[in-house]
Amino acid sequence: MLYRHEAVANHFSLAVNEDGTQFLMNPNQVHFSRIRASDLLLLDANDPDTLSLPGAPDPSAWGLHGSVHRRCPHHRCLMHVHSVFATVLASLEDSNMPPIDQNTATFYNRYVIDEEFGGLAFENEGERCASMLGDPKKKVMIMGNHGVLVMGDTVAETFNRLYYFERAAETYIRALQTGAGRSSGAPTSSGSSASPLTHAGRSGVPMPALSSPRTTSTPATAPGRHLAVVSRRVVADHVRINCLPHSCAGLRGVFAAA
Ligand SMILES: [Zn+2]
Repeated sequence: MLYRHEAVANHFSLAVNEDGTQFLMNPNQVHFSRIRASDLLLLDANDPDTLSLPGAPDPSAWGLHGSVHRRCPHHRCLMHVHSVFATVLASLEDSNMPPIDQNTATFYNRYVIDEEFGGLAFENEGERCASMLGDPKKKVMIMGNHGVLVMGDTVAETFNRLYYFERAAETYIRALQTGAGRSSGAPTSSGSSASPLTHAGRSGVPMPALSSPRTTSTPATAPGRHLAVVSRRVVADHVRINCLPHSCAGLRGVFAAA
């Protein structure tokens, strides 16, 4: 799992019937490295007695995955983790991820942000999250102050998307950490086209850069050192051609499924 799971925590599920209400899920308190196919739980999202049955799933796993499979048959496979960079992104005041490179561009306008984290995903919290996932094209939910939920049609497609979302979040978070400027697209009156790489808060109030300003010995306005958001044209081209120009075949699956 490439360090994206938390040993016995976090949960994955896969719908196995047509309306998605029957699904497989990892068993409670079993380390991911030890789970066998025969260990997977077969659950019914409409069975109110699930948590009282022998070998019941983790209650928060049931609350989240049961709710999504019950309400969102278009999402067949779900993977929920608290991977480091996705969770850092989810913990920022503004959890939007601008398209600053090819990986981040892959997710442009393809995620929803939940800003109302209500604690462990028991039944009510799971229902609330599921109510935000009605758009089949939005296959990532950035769970504010919590983690990320990634969806797909198959296990492979969903894992691929989970992997690249974490990579994209890492690129963005590390870019913020540099404290370098970002191209505004138009030179300022001082001749600089740089602006601090900041993220607007959920309240709309700009937040300061995450790291200290550069010293005068390393000017942030030096040409070529600014972080630029990928242009809308480039993003649109990537979506249209259904793949990226580098030899990353995995991303094609993300696009193909979008
Ligand atoms: Zn969680």
